[in-house]
Amino acid sequence: MPERNDFLSRNDVIEINELASGISEYYFPNGQIDPIFIAEKNNISYSFGDYADSFDGLLECENKEFHIFMNLIRLKQAYSERARFTFAHELGHYFIDDHRNALLKGLSPSHCSYTGFQSRNRAERQADYFASCLLMPETGFKKYCFRKKFEFRIIDELAKKYGASKSATALRFCTIGNHPIMVVYSHDNNIKWYWSSIDFRFKWLKYGKDKLPEDTVAGEYFNLGRKVSRTEPVYAMDWFNIKYDNQADLPFKEHCLMHDRHCLSIIWEE
Ligand SMILES: [Zn+2]
Repeated sequence: MPERNDFLSRNDVIEINELASGISEYYFPNGQIDPIFIAEKNNISYSFGDYADSFDGLLECENKEFHIFMNLIRLKQAYSERARFTFAHELGHYFIDDHRNALLKGLSPSHCSYTGFQSRNRAERQADYFASCLLMPETGFKKYCFRKKFEFRIIDELAKKYGASKSATALRFCTIGNHPIMVVYSHDNNIKWYWSSIDFRFKWLKYGKDKLPEDTVAGEYFNLGRKVSRTEPVYAMDWFNIKYDNQADLPFKEHCLMHDRHCLSIIWEE
């Protein structure tokens, strides 16, 4: 569904989830996933080094041997959330058949990855999604959510439980959580992408992807410099393209994760 959710196709979502969750549940049936251990078990060597600003992580294939380079200059520490995610992302380039085969055949250059759902490139998004599924396997995630009422705290708790970032956790929640949510990523007052649970009530943003609506928490962050770290009330008409007048005042909640020029909005109906 590229018009609505151009983040990934539904097919990618299903296949990558099965692949990554299967790997995690095999190696780590309980507890937090260690992507480094998975690399070792698959004979993928790795190194952590200082590679200036050139990439976060990189998977290289030489003589059919795979090696992961991790850039500590950008990732700070080997066990940070971001490093774990990047390592898992590089594993995605290995475990997703098309990516690995292209590397083995020398068809594609090694991926210089900037991870964290910022890339427009499909292979990068697939690897990002793989990383979130690997770090947060489906069964345990769903078990944690079971019968809990959704609020932002759930994303926070799941992120801690799995050693994943809140943005990766929110995206994971979109696909397998127990309450419909939408996630909108904007950069410099522009919407880069948005994604929602399949049963989220509204499918279209107020101005599509052309313009970030002003009367939203994200809009006020960019336009007024208003930085709010709590959950705020918004109305359906603030964010969405409303077809029926009686839907305009439906109350929603928005919780934003703001950082410099980035803003990730998590939006849900109570
Ligand atoms: Zn990559």
